[in-house]
Amino acid sequence: MTDLVSRESLKKSFGFITDDTACPLHIAAEIDQSIELEPAVDPVHAAGGVYCRECEYYLKHPSFKNEERRFCFESPLSPKAKEPDDFCSDGKKAET
Ligand SMILES: [Zn+2]
Repeated sequence: MTDLVSRESLKKSFGFITDDTACPLHIAAEIDQSIELEPAVDPVHAAGGVYCRECEYYLKHPSFKNEERRFCFESPLSPKAKEPDDFCSDGKKAET
């Protein structure tokens, strides 16, 4: 599993170097820039979740064919209206 690391926490951890007046400014700037350039991890994906927009259960309801809204059909007998950026614990990434 991917680790989640806070940029803010990293900056505080390196503060003893970057805030030290003996630290050359270009070194402090390099550390700050390196922290900013680290790739961001989506917290939903890191937790093993799937956004509804990515989920195989996220479908149009047969009773509302002319509407754009979609539902989570993980429980087919009780589909729930969902927005694309919603997620649920039963999400399953659709094959692309
Ligand atoms: Zn769902």
